[in-house]
Amino acid sequence: MQTFGLIGNPVGHSLSPVMHQAAYSHLHMDANYITLEPDISDLKKIITGAPQNGISGLNVTIPFKQDVLSYVKPNKLAKRIGAINTIDFSEKTPIGYNTDVAGSRRSFEHYGVNLSGKNSVVIGAGGAGRAMAFMLSDEGSNVSIVNRTESKSRSLSASVPNSASYGLSDLAELIQDADILVNTTSVGMGADISLVPATSLHSDLVVMDAVYRPLETRLIRDAKASGALTIDGVWMLLYQGAESFEIWTGKDAPVEIMNEAVRSQL
Ligand code: NAP
Repeated sequence: MQTFGLIGNPVGHSLSPVMHQAAYSHLHMDANYITLEPDISDLKKIITGAPQNGISGLNVTIPFKQDVLSYVKPNKLAKRIGAINTIDFSEKTPIGYNTDVAGSRRSFEHYGVNLSGKNSVVIGAGGAGRAMAFMLSDEGSNVSIVNRTESKSRSLSASVPNSASYGLSDLAELIQDADILVNTTSVGMGADISLVPATSLHSDLVVMDAVYRPLETRLIRDAKASGALTIDGVWMLLYQGAESFEIWTGKDAPVEIMNEAVRSQL
């Protein structure tokens, strides 16, 4: 039996166990996906002791995505982003990956959206915002990073090529000339609110929300009403999980099965 899992705090409401177990069942794999919710003081012991405890791979979530950088070797991309969400223990030295980058890219690919040469607006400069901004820039977009705390969007923009930083008051004007708009803040999670004025949305936009609880956030609802193409947060969750699965097992992830499993919970 292989054991994979998620480490974070809290992890009780995570959809990752359902998503990964569905993949194991579909492929008749003898594997299990567990959740670990340690205090920060136990993080080092758990990560360094994972292989001896039979753990082959771990996903990492809030608040440990930066902390685990001290205990595993980040690959080039994870080092650049400064955050790890996947650890592979199959080699002598555990390797850290950031699959939020591929997860966000594959979400746009799923809808056939070409990102090259587009004007993209990313709201948020936390973990998800960093992954999204680097991905869009790497795909050839011009990236405007908008954040409540402007010092954070400034410092992120300094490391992302073809990007500029702004505050929330610039949002409506930036959206006028934008092709892509992504919310990577937690605003809209469990509450019917949005940082984006509905009147600024238009039908030439592709709008993505990293928030997936509720599945249809206020932003996604307003964007649909404006005629924009919308991409909900489950796609990013799904594809980052699919990437982790593929790193750990070397098999193609059964994304349709995983997608159904997650959506059945929302
Ligand atoms: P994080 O690192 O804590 O960053 C939070 C971001 O939200 C910061 O930019 C913060 O701005 C902003 N923010 C929080 N409250 C705000 C408010 N009231 N007004 C304006 N901005 C506010 O968190 P994260 O890991 O990036 O996650 C952010 C969201 O994305 C969460 O809802 C998470 O569930 C979701 N997410 C989804 C996926 C997926 O696969 N779909 C993956 C990762 C994350 P300041 O800098 O000003 O504080």
